Amino acid sequence: MSGSRRDEGGAYDLVVVGAGPAGATAAVAALEERPGLRVLLLDRADFPRDKCCGDGIAAQAVDVLRAHGMQDAVEGWSPLRRLELAAGDTVVDGRMSRDVHVVPRRAFDARLVEHAVDRGAELRRSRVRQVEVREDRVVLDTGDAEVTGAVVLGADGAHSRVRAALTGRHHLTTPRRALALRGYTPTPGWLAGRQVIRWGPGRQPSYAWAFDRGDGLANIGYGELVDDGPGPTRARMLDALDGLLPGLVDDATDWRGHPLPLSGFRWQQPDGRCLLAGDASGLVNPMTGEGIYYAVATGSLAGRAAAAAVADGRPASAGRRYRHDVRRLLAGHLRHTWTAGTLAQRRGVVAAGVRAARGDQRVFDDLVEIGLGGGRITPRLGRSLAVELTRQLVRSTA
Ligand SMILES: Cc1cc2nc3c(=O)[nH]c(=O)nc-3n(C[C@H](O)[C@H](O)[C@H](O)COP(=O)(O)OP(=O)(O)OC[C@H]3O[C@@H](n4cnc5c(N)ncnc54)[C@H](O)[C@@H]3O)c2cc1C
Repeated sequence: MSGSRRDEGGAYDLVVVGAGPAGATAAVAALEERPGLRVLLLDRADFPRDKCCGDGIAAQAVDVLRAHGMQDAVEGWSPLRRLELAAGDTVVDGRMSRDVHVVPRRAFDARLVEHAVDRGAELRRSRVRQVEVREDRVVLDTGDAEVTGAVVLGADGAHSRVRAALTGRHHLTTPRRALALRGYTPTPGWLAGRQVIRWGPGRQPSYAWAFDRGDGLANIGYGELVDDGPGPTRARMLDALDGLLPGLVDDATDWRGHPLPLSGFRWQQPDGRCLLAGDASGLVNPMTGEGIYYAVATGSLAGRAAAAAVADGRPASAGRRYRHDVRRLLAGHLRHTWTAGTLAQRRGVVAAGVRAARGDQRVFDDLVEIGLGGGRITPRLGRSLAVELTRQLVRSTA
């Protein structure tokens, strides 16, 4: 799928930079809110394109897609319910209360982009190089043309140009990052119908995963926290993956690495006509690396806020409206995931969480909800974690 026109510039109501899950959902939501809006969807890549990811699509992400009639992006892929979580010898093999799908991003993202084009967005292959926010519009330099938007959404992922343009001016903080490596391998028998996540001894979050796609292949990978340093080498990540999930690395192909900008205690969005969604806005779950739910949820809210602001004749109000909507949806959840992610930097806490989930299905469900959706540290989860940590302490001092 390629853009319908050459890179010829132009003026639009909304320009969406990046046609991943956040950008495509935003374009659809904007056109639903305001049919006839002039929406340009820019991406440096041609679709279908691969994206380094675990390919796990949470039920909560599908809920958002369904609200926009885009749920067919997971249709035809086998739903999964079984999830194994392990920290060292502590293992829980549980059944999730809702289906998760594992869909290669090459297929998933292309379907979302098709929806955006069907609804009336103009798709163009183009790399945004410079972003200039002026009083009355935002000007994007794509190398050989200038494109302007009354509102611009940065949905351009972990290395966002749009975020970089806003950072100094609005004092945006730099998200903490994890680095992850992914490959595809034939699904071994023991993995059929399952997702497996095993936490390792590296800087937390540090974990390996293996997710069965249901088509004979599995997505496998390893990720860990990177602070200021250069991050783990590819060889060390492959070693760590092989240590946690032995026997899968050798037959795997299509290796790719990518950073994950982890969410913090407070989500930031400046006032004005420039919005940020998905990875560009620093929204990846710090415990599980889940980011697609956040991408489609914030994309949806961004598209609506942009369209409403343009329709009111006050495009510069888009940032304020959108910030309000996202905070209403996610602020409480993000404080809880930040707290959980900070606690989970101690490996004993991860093991205690896994043990608590093994003893109580409802605790297992709470953990899944906070890791994949908009959940919180419920009183039940907090209590059972405290009990397990106390037991651990007693055992270690006995
Ligand atoms: C190894 C790994 C495993 C992961 N596993 C999971 C998982 O199993 N489940 C899950 O929910 N999340 C997972 N994530 C996180 C998930 O991949 C991201 O959160 C998600 O892709 C964010 O979507 P997005 O639309 O914000 O950005 P992206 O999907 O990154 O899309 C950004 C788009 O912007 C385009 N772009 C970038 N720069 C420019 C530019 N200058 N001009 C024009 N276009 C540009 C890119 O080509 C791309 O198409 C994983 C991430 C990694 C790295």
